[in-house]
Amino acid sequence: MSEQYVLAIDQGTTSTRAIVFDHAGSIVSTGQLEHEQIFPRAGWVEHNPREIWDNTREVIGQALSKANLTRHDIAAAGITNQRETAVVWDRRTGEPVYNAIVWQDTRTQSIADELAAEGGVDRFKDKVGLPLATYFSGTKIKWILDNVEGARARAEAGDLLFGNTDAWLIWNLTGGVDGGVHVTDVTNASRTLFMDLKTLSWDQEILDVFGVPATMLPEIKSSSEVYAEVHTSQLLREVPIAGILGDQQAATFGQAAFAKGEAKNTYGTGCFLIFNTGEEIVHSKNGLLTTVGYKLGEGEPHYALEGSIAVAGSLVQWLRDNLGLIRTAPEVEELARSVKDNGGVYIVPAFSGLFAPYWRADARGAIVGLTRYANKGHIARAALEATAFQTREVLDAVNRDSGVPLRELKVDGGMVANDALMQFQADILGVDVVRPKVIETTALGAAYAAGLAVGFWGDLGELSANWDEDMRWSPQLDHSERDRLMRQWTKAVTKSMDWVD
Ligand code: ADP
Repeated sequence: MSEQYVLAIDQGTTSTRAIVFDHAGSIVSTGQLEHEQIFPRAGWVEHNPREIWDNTREVIGQALSKANLTRHDIAAAGITNQRETAVVWDRRTGEPVYNAIVWQDTRTQSIADELAAEGGVDRFKDKVGLPLATYFSGTKIKWILDNVEGARARAEAGDLLFGNTDAWLIWNLTGGVDGGVHVTDVTNASRTLFMDLKTLSWDQEILDVFGVPATMLPEIKSSSEVYAEVHTSQLLREVPIAGILGDQQAATFGQAAFAKGEAKNTYGTGCFLIFNTGEEIVHSKNGLLTTVGYKLGEGEPHYALEGSIAVAGSLVQWLRDNLGLIRTAPEVEELARSVKDNGGVYIVPAFSGLFAPYWRADARGAIVGLTRYANKGHIARAALEATAFQTREVLDAVNRDSGVPLRELKVDGGMVANDALMQFQADILGVDVVRPKVIETTALGAAYAAGLAVGFWGDLGELSANWDEDMRWSPQLDHSERDRLMRQWTKAVTKSMDWVD
């Protein structure tokens, strides 16, 4: 094939990126734009889907022009996206009926509670792998149908479509109102509460309970196949869209964690550990989610256990934006290094309740252990440590569920630039933490999925050979100190619970 590159669109929580990769899996060029975080009320988080679509076209242009490339150089495009974030739009006008309701948004707690009144929060867990929680798309779609005037009638008439941002962008890229295709992949579908993990199809019984018409939902496809060609964006005209993976599954794929027993942890806005369980659906007894890892074309689906932590890097943003302790996120490291330890201070960042392994919607953030001695250095340190402690709790759950302790952890995401955090992570886990050369693993995973579908890459072995180690941190802390810190952390977590009336 004459095309030398694959383009990935990474539609993330804070920004949208377009990244061009070459055959070695190296980054050739990048375009990136942030979008507005809309907080209409406490606990509500929205994005404007139109802004995201505009930004997507803009960043594609940036990435191509920086490397002097045209659509003729691109073999395929892959998409990865913030999962669960729900967009509902009108198929005749292309207009969203409401802003995108973002995964962190907790407005649907009463919907989740009502649905759980019969059968409890794990009512659908055997089928879909997820507890009833505000996190997933299902409750957000229901909220839109229940609360946006006229939406339910329009949905029942077949005029409204739902998608996560992957489906929204693909529909727009492939023609929008003029014949856009309405598809998603198994990984995104596995985060809605509506997909049966075994059959990989929408479950009519659950849809009936939620009151969501099946006609709104995208067709579920594999993660790697040609879905359609781009029509709307001149820049990518006729380039096949050939890969879709939810962001965490994409990062796992980009880390070449293809086989059963392999895992990765991504440190971004939140923190997400994914453990590949191969072709087996494993139901967690320890607060983890069961999700689809990937499915390549007609191949068998690979499943995964996931530990989702809602707040990681966003706690650093909070120190920057709400407290003004730092001017930029990376400055947190210097501030944390200004003190020799946490001074007994612990921050439990339960801004939207606690996700894995607790799943406590009633929790709220807590700073505990304050004394007159504590200063902003201790707060910065406690903020970084919070991410490491939460990861340890999730890893403990993975080890208990799988029965085989993980021997090292592959990491990626914006926070892994932070050396102090990575060393503390190795210390508190007691295993090595390893960072690859390409830390844009999310985009890389989407590029891999698309490239495999069009024969740009031949097989998974070729992709594994691209993985290259950049840094490794080994544990240095003695066991008794590690155990003491974990005990204190666990105690701090109990202080954050039972807060919401
Ligand atoms: P996402 O994909 O979720 O938008 P990224 O992987 O781009 O997130 O990571 C951005 C997050 O990482 C932000 O929340 C930011 O606060 C945090 N971050 C970035 N650099 C650092 C750093 N050096 N130390 C700690 N946190 C950082």
